[in-house]
Amino acid sequence: MKGFLGALLFSSFSYDSFARERALIYRIRYSSTIERTRVVLDCKGEVKKKDIKEKLVGRVLWLDVKNTGAVRKLVKRLRSPLVSEVKVLPISSNRVKVKLVLKSPHKFKVFGLRSSCGRPFRIVIDVFPDFLTLSCPVKRFPERVVVIDPGHGGKDPGAVWPIGSRHPIIREKDITLAIALKVRDYLKRVPGIKVIMTRTKDVYVPLLKRAEIAAKSCADAFVSIHADSMPNYPSWSGVTVFKASPRLFAKAERTAKEVAKRINLCSDVMCWSISPLLINMSTTVTFAESSRLAKDIVSSLKARVNEDLVNGIRDMKRNIVVLKTPGRPAVLIECGFLTNPTDRRRLVERWYQEELAQGIAKGIEKYLASLNKVAYER
Ligand SMILES: [Zn+2]
Repeated sequence: MKGFLGALLFSSFSYDSFARERALIYRIRYSSTIERTRVVLDCKGEVKKKDIKEKLVGRVLWLDVKNTGAVRKLVKRLRSPLVSEVKVLPISSNRVKVKLVLKSPHKFKVFGLRSSCGRPFRIVIDVFPDFLTLSCPVKRFPERVVVIDPGHGGKDPGAVWPIGSRHPIIREKDITLAIALKVRDYLKRVPGIKVIMTRTKDVYVPLLKRAEIAAKSCADAFVSIHADSMPNYPSWSGVTVFKASPRLFAKAERTAKEVAKRINLCSDVMCWSISPLLINMSTTVTFAESSRLAKDIVSSLKARVNEDLVNGIRDMKRNIVVLKTPGRPAVLIECGFLTNPTDRRRLVERWYQEELAQGIAKGIEKYLASLNKVAYER
């Protein structure tokens, strides 16, 4: 299959030429984030590079491993957006087949890790979503694309009021969709701007799907819309615009892991922690661009809604899904707090949603227009 990474990278260790004993696979482990699923096969003894043959058949990745056994048949079902199941199947005493069932034909990489610091030898299979390496064409015509992402939806209601209620009277997913559709309707009337929505109905859209929509659309901006809940701070109110920060970059690995655990657990608290904010980690340009986008939205919200209602810009510091998507400035807007009586009352009102939507849309419009200016000046 074209474009696959299927490379064996065994350069990180050397082989003991006297090691004649066959290796033994005894455990399957895995970790999963939105940007990568890593399957690890723990082995007693080392497996040689030349002894592993890989083959992708449809959605199944096969590894044929020679001079290696397995303690028994091993099976692991994964909670991963990329891989559904891994099996280690002993064929004979010194031959093993490993079967990875992928959810769609993604890119993968297989390599070995030498035992060290008490850790065993490991065969590592990394699986990446195939859209991550997508490159966008340079735009000749200055049509600007923005992806609007109404948070939550379907089985994931987001924050609710009353908190913990099974039949809440207010659900974040309805508020985010209503505001997002109004933002879309405003921007659709602006020439030269194309709007792509991650959802337009009350449906559940997995994080990976949202990320894929943003990546494939080669968007100039990604705007995720949410509403917050802070049970311990009922006085907190107003709109907050979050942007990615370089500091976050450093913490990315850790936080992504933390978030992966919570992807299906939408709590009432800190809903932005599970939103698929897209960050480019390869250049600082995107951080600066995210900052500009956030500033334009905040100043427009202040003019449109109310100076006092807008809390300004904050850096995303923790618990955030991070994705390597080149050149995509992204912000996340918390439109208010369901735990604050005033915010709660107005967030469900059509007029207030309209005010917020206009404020957000005008900020996006200003930002996208500035991109064209830069392009012409060159
Ligand atoms: Zn949310």
